[in-house]
Amino acid sequence: AISVSRLSKRFGTTKALSDVSLRIGAGEMVALIGASGSGKSTLIRHLAGLETGEGEASRVEIFGTLAQGAGRMAPGAREVRGDVSVIFQQFNLVSRLSVLTNVLIGTLGRIPRWRGTLGLFRRPERQEAHAALARVGIGQTGAQRASTLSGGQQQRAAIARTLVQRARILLADEPIASLDPASARRVMDVLSEVNRTDGITVLVSLHQVEYARRYFARTIAMRDGQIVFDGPSTALTNDFLSELY
Ligand code: ATP
Ligand code: MG
Repeated sequence: AISVSRLSKRFGTTKALSDVSLRIGAGEMVALIGASGSGKSTLIRHLAGLETGEGEASRVEIFGTLAQGAGRMAPGAREVRGDVSVIFQQFNLVSRLSVLTNVLIGTLGRIPRWRGTLGLFRRPERQEAHAALARVGIGQTGAQRASTLSGGQQQRAAIARTLVQRARILLADEPIASLDPASARRVMDVLSEVNRTDGITVLVSLHQVEYARRYFARTIAMRDGQIVFDGPSTALTNDFLSELY
């Protein structure tokens, strides 16, 4: 579903990504770990089409469509935008809008723009958004302002938005970093559930290695802009991890 080859990115003299290549199959759920500054967010931003890499050989393909190549966005970037949803550590919701409206924002890619702009969401879309909220376990919150949700509930609302977007890839950059363990587990359970049930391809960056071990069959580890491990999470040894951080 995701194919990256020879992707590099410099910020001044910092090599944030050095010749990164990877492949993530449709329906996989993969953890991305690495110390602060190792390049996790930069990689996710490239996959999300928020940044372009460098080098003539660099390529990012999403479901076989070239999203960027040779350091430039490709014409296919627009086409794949709706397939990809991104969730960050915080600020995923528009705080003064209702939770339901935030979820309905996920439909904007597939309804006429003027209707979305005017807030004219129709019944089937509203029903879908309500169902998505129920599915992530916060079905009663639709009418509340987004700012009234707890951190974990906000992340789950963002996952509900991904569902109504009908995204096929969910990129989550440290979605549980600011949550207490119970809320973090709930968010991880929801991510696993949408991966299993809908076959959404999920890539999650994390600081907490124990979550990588518990929830993900496969882990990719980065250090200094390079992939230094890509394999079964069970193969992550404590020696390797203590060297990684
Ligand atoms: P963290 O765990 O702290 O979120 P990370 O693994 O996500 O770290 P990145 O944010 O991808 O790391 O950063 C990789 C490197 O690139 C770091 O050295 C960072 O300072 C640098 N970097 C990232 N974005 C920019 C930017 N917009 N301008 C300058 N330097 C940047
Ligand atoms: Mg980061």
